Amino acid sequence: MGAIRLLPPAVADRIAAGEVVERPASVVKELVENALDAGARRISVTLEGGGVERIAVEDDGVGIAAEDLPLAVERHATSKLADERLIEIATLGFRGEALPSIGAVARLSLISRPRGAPEGAEITVEAGVKGPVRPAAAGFGTRVTVRDLFFCAPARLKFLKSPRAETDAALAVLRRLALVHPEVAFRVTVDGREVLALAAGEPFRRMADLLGEEMARHAIALAAEKGALRLAGWVGPPSLTRATQADQHLAVNRRPVTDRLLRTALRVAYGDAIAVGRHPVAVLALDLPAEAVDVNVHPAKAEVRFRDAEAVRGFVIAAVREALGAARTVAPVPLRPPAFRFAAPRAAAPALAEAPALPLTAPPAARPAPVPLPAPVEHPLGAARAQLLATYILAETADGALILVDQHAAAERIRHEALKQALAAGGVAKQALLVPAVVELSPGEAEAVLARAEALARLGLVVEPFGGAVLVRAVPAPLSGCDAAALVRDLAEELAESGESRALAERLDAVLARMACHGSIRAGRRLTEAEMNALLRALETTPNGGTCSHGRPTWIRLEAADLERLFGRR
Ligand code: ADP
Ligand code: MG
Repeated sequence: MGAIRLLPPAVADRIAAGEVVERPASVVKELVENALDAGARRISVTLEGGGVERIAVEDDGVGIAAEDLPLAVERHATSKLADERLIEIATLGFRGEALPSIGAVARLSLISRPRGAPEGAEITVEAGVKGPVRPAAAGFGTRVTVRDLFFCAPARLKFLKSPRAETDAALAVLRRLALVHPEVAFRVTVDGREVLALAAGEPFRRMADLLGEEMARHAIALAAEKGALRLAGWVGPPSLTRATQADQHLAVNRRPVTDRLLRTALRVAYGDAIAVGRHPVAVLALDLPAEAVDVNVHPAKAEVRFRDAEAVRGFVIAAVREALGAARTVAPVPLRPPAFRFAAPRAAAPALAEAPALPLTAPPAARPAPVPLPAPVEHPLGAARAQLLATYILAETADGALILVDQHAAAERIRHEALKQALAAGGVAKQALLVPAVVELSPGEAEAVLARAEALARLGLVVEPFGGAVLVRAVPAPLSGCDAAALVRDLAEELAESGESRALAERLDAVLARMACHGSIRAGRRLTEAEMNALLRALETTPNGGTCSHGRPTWIRLEAADLERLFGRR
């Protein structure tokens, strides 16, 4: 046996680096946080080759003096801890670990010029080996460049996803940080193309820029305070949900977090206003005294520990509920003078006999010769008269009302319920693929899918391991013709995300809802009259037919009297 020896520092650094530097997105996070800590007003980020080839972050912050450059890349060197009180930390970084960790697994260059300094200086670190400090041309601020990430840690390279996926992950990190720092301008360039340009401005503007028009239009503002706890931001209405939690932007004392407790509190507040497996949209900042929260529990500081978790949970649930409740009771402002009300879909349409077979994907038959319109039939949703905007079906009922159906929402609910029924009746029929599909997934996602292969087989989806990938042998028969790879990728995301946190039954329902989305008639698809009528009949007999799997209405009814009022006839 050999003597016990200390690891060479470069090796120790490389091991520690794994904790902080997991993928390009984590480098981006650390560098941008440093720029924010330095008081930057503009930050520009450049990504090349998924961030593996090059990541550059440039800021106009306070800069680093030439003589401090070697210290900045030294382990546990930080300018941010005045004393030992690790708990009371106002800045984002404080462990003094990011730069040395990055330098241990890449080629790092740090160029900086503090305001007032006559010139800039540069230091480099390659695979943990520090170079000398040299003068360098530079504007005021700091420019950090990371090249060839993991070139000396090939094992980590293998765990990276495609450049595209790594870029997406880095952009997600940037969006999160940008959301909580609207006072800072951001510019992001990916492979030479500018993908994000955010001017400094109001928090609302930033939220609208990053979360889109729909959220901006319907966002419900929230501001609550209780004792030393403050919560502010926006939540989406229950009708605006996402398939993942990616658009839940939560910050604790301005630090973006993906904290479980907060996400669960948010979900609880929405209750059954949104469907199982769907996630609300939110931009929320929680502020509380620094000593009431420990941020030093997670290497990337994504999770926090609250001193009084129960109080925080209760406060967040109550605040979100109140905001949602207030939004519900405020009457919508009528857009047009003759206001009328739509009849809400009846909870359950009168159950007719057996659900008809669903020829939803039948290819359109040869166009029939035009025939006079038949009299409206005695069905609750009437007879199809037209398809509008390639998205809505207009129908006329025997009792003289108009019905507008959202074809995608309706088809999705019908599939969802049909899949549920099939599952309850012993399993969903399989449709074997002529050529099995190979789907590349991240190791975590592949594992999440394969671990549930048996349950998925009952849903008609047959998968097996294939090298590091997943092989799809059969898809659920009701979804035959769907893009198997897209389906599996989507489910992998769902499963990897829901993890073990939910009961199996609940997870299966979420999976079914996802599947239903795949087989569905999309908005934008032209339908024949036969297809439209089949959709109406099926919707009438579908449980929960009044809302889609995301809780939005599938149809609305417009009475003749409403029309008369609109035209001033009444
Ligand atoms: P930490 O952020 O935890 O202190 P880092 O390794 O990320 O550790 O950075 C080390 C030190 O380098 C920081 O404390 C700071 O003094 C300095 N530094 C890093 N990036 C910047 C920057 N963009 N502008 C100014 N100073 C910086
Ligand atoms: Mg830092």
